[in-house]
Amino acid sequence: ESGANIVKEGNLTVCTHLPYEPFQYKESGEIVGFDVDLMDLVAKDLGLKQSIVNTPFETIETGQAMNTGKCDIAAAGMTITEERAEVMDFSDPYFDATQALLVKKGAGYDSLDALSGKTLGVQIGTTGEQYAKDNAPEDVELKVFEDLALLTTAVKSGSIDAGINDNSVLYDYVDQNPDTEVSTEFDTGEQYGFAVAKDKNDELLKSVNDVLASAKDDGTYDELFKKYFPN
Ligand code: GLN
Repeated sequence: ESGANIVKEGNLTVCTHLPYEPFQYKESGEIVGFDVDLMDLVAKDLGLKQSIVNTPFETIETGQAMNTGKCDIAAAGMTITEERAEVMDFSDPYFDATQALLVKKGAGYDSLDALSGKTLGVQIGTTGEQYAKDNAPEDVELKVFEDLALLTTAVKSGSIDAGINDNSVLYDYVDQNPDTEVSTEFDTGEQYGFAVAKDKNDELLKSVNDVLASAKDDGTYDELFKKYFPN
């Protein structure tokens, strides 16, 4: 029995932002993904049922969703950053990522400098948006998108010249959309964490870390990794 604080009896209420394939997305009407499966393990360990709440990423990455009790935990392919760690408590890291650039195949934009005078799509509230703001030349026009699908579709349709986002989600997209490609990665050295309200839920955090550790030990983590990242 855990003494975890939970907002809704019998449930592990999980905030995420859809779609962020393959971490969380809909398939045949059901929400599935790497994060979803990991949260199922946590819920099971606590004798709870996972209940997913689709939430704008800005309200997750500012901690609002967890700190106001909208959900117990955020599972959103979210990078652990110092700034975020001031307003939420992160689990141990569970996934590595870097920023990357998505372009139409053969477009030739393989750096931020190469996008001088062009348009670059960013996803609101993300580390990719921040990286572009900090590193893109001033004459790159940043276009802000609410979610990953809108961003990737804009690249594919040619309405923007490139899009920045995490490498693994872009490689997943390219696999399904071979008329696009990842032209470069930026080696930002990010790590994802699950996050709970600040200073309020050490018990839940401990359960998450225990579940992550045993999933890594007993091969469950590797199985899930192969399931969602087969290449
Ligand atoms: N990993 C990125 C971040 O934390 C993007 C996460 C997302 O869009 N779901 O900002």
